[in-house]
Amino acid sequence: VVDLGMPNRTVLTTCAYCGVGCSFKAELRGDELVRMVPYKDGGANEGHSCVKGRFAFGYATHPDRQLKPMVRERITDPWREVDWETAINHVAERMKDIQARHGVGAIGGITSSRCTNEEVYVVQKMVRAAFGNNNVDTCARVCHSPTGYGLKQTFGTSAGTQDFKSVAQSDVIMVIGANPTDGHPVFASRMKRRLREGARLIVVDPRRIDLVRSPHIKADHHLQLAPGTNVAVVNAMAHVVVTEGLVDMSFVDSRCEDFDAWAEFIARPENSPEAVAEITGVPAADLRAAARLYATGGNAAIYYGLGVTEHSQGSTMVMGMANLAMATGNIGREGVGVNPLRGQNNVQGSCDMGSFPHELPGYRHVSDDAVREVFETLWERPIVPEPGLRIPNMFDAAVDGSFRGLFVQGEDIAQSDPNTQHVTAALEAMELVVVQDLFLNETAKFAHVFLPGTSFLEKDGTFTNAERRINRVRPVMAPKTGMHEWQIVCEIARAMGYPMSYPHPREIMAEIAATTPTFAGVSFDKLDKLGSVQWPCNDSAPEGTPTMHVDAFVRGKGRFVQTPFVPTRERSTRKYPLILTTGRILSQYNVGAQTRRTANVAWHKEDVLEIHPHDAEVRGIGDGDEVTLASRVGTTSLRAVLSDRMPVGVVYTTFHHPVTGANVVTTENSDWATNCPEYKVTAVQVGLRHSG
Ligand code: SF4
Repeated sequence: VVDLGMPNRTVLTTCAYCGVGCSFKAELRGDELVRMVPYKDGGANEGHSCVKGRFAFGYATHPDRQLKPMVRERITDPWREVDWETAINHVAERMKDIQARHGVGAIGGITSSRCTNEEVYVVQKMVRAAFGNNNVDTCARVCHSPTGYGLKQTFGTSAGTQDFKSVAQSDVIMVIGANPTDGHPVFASRMKRRLREGARLIVVDPRRIDLVRSPHIKADHHLQLAPGTNVAVVNAMAHVVVTEGLVDMSFVDSRCEDFDAWAEFIARPENSPEAVAEITGVPAADLRAAARLYATGGNAAIYYGLGVTEHSQGSTMVMGMANLAMATGNIGREGVGVNPLRGQNNVQGSCDMGSFPHELPGYRHVSDDAVREVFETLWERPIVPEPGLRIPNMFDAAVDGSFRGLFVQGEDIAQSDPNTQHVTAALEAMELVVVQDLFLNETAKFAHVFLPGTSFLEKDGTFTNAERRINRVRPVMAPKTGMHEWQIVCEIARAMGYPMSYPHPREIMAEIAATTPTFAGVSFDKLDKLGSVQWPCNDSAPEGTPTMHVDAFVRGKGRFVQTPFVPTRERSTRKYPLILTTGRILSQYNVGAQTRRTANVAWHKEDVLEIHPHDAEVRGIGDGDEVTLASRVGTTSLRAVLSDRMPVGVVYTTFHHPVTGANVVTTENSDWATNCPEYKVTAVQVGLRHSG
């Protein structure tokens, strides 16, 4: 234990882990960070925190951090440390050379949901203005891109409808494909407080998560569906609402469109609870009871996670939930709504900032002439009106040889993206992979240039949390690398012939506000004065918007969309008889690059496979045995833990450790609308691992 003494200064900043976005006072003695104290006036957390935000900040000063830029010609060569100017010029020259030989579209970039809005904004600007294409995507591709698509189609904007406080007004809480106690602990505390006060709870999840049964809380209904059948469940609930006369017709008539055609669709026999019970394994009576509770129990709110989005019908399911909320009038006031629990601290922001290949900042399509003109006038460069490549398309094009250079900002795609073999083949095929990160992560094994990044303690900017709350991130220390990430990106753009510079991130935010109507009223001065604001923040809502769609939907009328259930093509077979689904654990965060370099790793040293005792017994597997986990795309090994949280036939693991590499077995199946990978359904076989 190092005694750092009493702190003598504090800096108010924001947690760099999950999408709750808790505010903290970083207490320092000199330049040493002594502790992180949750801030009592933090809009998202009101003085609360979890074990990650409070204790897991040591990664920022971990000796594994690489602080100098490095280059190498081939990925088999040793790294060579260089100065910043050399590294930046090298990246610019190589990118330009690739474009000269293979075309403007042969390079692209991936933004990070762990970087600030300002850092993300400059990357998408570099791609559009300096690279001259729209080949920019975000890690939201692999998590909440279906949220973006589904909520935009139905409500008109790609974001959750409520603020976290709103849950205190909920009478019925429906948690679908999310595990808030592990993934979003501080919001889970708010939710549990409301449940202890008497709110009713519906959990839709193949796994018996803690919320189903924990001290003082018991779910009224746990719809333990077969993985991959979400859409059938939500359709069955809507079927009950429509056929039992539970529709809020005054809301529907005044606020929505396309209801009649949807109601005709949803009333069909194939959407009845009895038909759906066959598909999902959820008893019809439970589906009916849950639907009645949701429709008649008072204010009903939906909170959902990646168990909704990471499916071949992820976008369909998001629209299915929106349909259910509109049909019952559960939109536009406190205590209701459809709310994604975003995984990463700034995944909302990275999407808001135009990190999608088809959308400029503020979710406006690149084909919109008027929107493009705003940016073209300011940036003094033409913007391509056609969408660019999504991440999986970049990988496919790399394997085909038409995509040759990639800038990766703070993402470990070699560990986090599905079907690792395909990802690494794509990375190996590229001429130039540039990784900007804190650590030499799994992706850096395939990189030709490593640009050291900054931790949240060195950043100056903003994060936007899952409730659209824009929080300030203030620097506790100067960048250990000597340069801010946004400065590096600007310098690469400049070296490629596109001058781009800002005196400070506040000017980047000023540009965002000038170009993006939902951010028009946001400034660092306002954030410093108010603490935080929730977008839309503009002349109509100068102090932000806690609840959306109050008098009208962003698109005008809420739109009912028909959502037929289509089974995933991933099926259990004689060879792969079990279905694997994946999730997170409280003490670790995503691929673990940060939390594995803190004391938290002691609590969760490895990823394990949860398997039902029956499935284990028939395979001769005992608790703690090493097992192989194989799918049609890959094989890994890990330790088995016997658990009846999963039903017979379903196994579960986490993905925090590269040595296990759960994504070695996940497949290339993806959401039909957005290509979000189907991490949640993989047919696998499990067997005892035989050494030697
Ligand atoms: Fe950080 Fe999320 Fe924990 Fe809050 S709940 S302290 S944002 S990890």
